[in-house]
Amino acid sequence: MSKINYDLSKIRGVAFDVDGVLSPATVPMDSNGIPQRMANLRDGYAMVVAARNGLKMAIISGGDSEAVRKRFAAIGVQDIFLAAGEKLPIFEKWLADNGLTPEEVAFVGDDIPDLPVLKAAGLPVAPRDAAHEVKEAATFITSCDGGYGVARELLEEILRVRGCWGESGKAFGG
Ligand SMILES: [Mg+2]
Repeated sequence: MSKINYDLSKIRGVAFDVDGVLSPATVPMDSNGIPQRMANLRDGYAMVVAARNGLKMAIISGGDSEAVRKRFAAIGVQDIFLAAGEKLPIFEKWLADNGLTPEEVAFVGDDIPDLPVLKAAGLPVAPRDAAHEVKEAATFITSCDGGYGVARELLEEILRVRGCWGESGKAFGG
């Protein structure tokens, strides 16, 4: 029995915000005042397993970081949308281009700009330290803060339902 109150066998795609979700909400700045992103390596492992097992994944971020593009492309995220001023049209086009319905998709976001997409996704997910408005809109709130294993926690549940999470070689799609 999953700890997520949703029929996870329906899920075929997951889209993620980056700042405050895959990277913490509080990060160092460089000498030019540009926030530096962080990557959670256990999130990375789960994303590789998810990609190898056919789960569609997307990044929809208001930020515009080439490091983010390189990192997530390298671990199997097929579609990466940066500098996304308005996220909902991008999300809806991603669904259409991939033949996905809203019920088949989870979206993870942490702040006000994510609310329209959270309301459009079948399974809206928020990190534990998300903005309160976002947590109110979420079906599932992770037990960890943004940047500290949010993707891992969600993908583990989805992949377990699909029978491709665990110690066996099956985890990598045979
Ligand atoms: Mg964010």
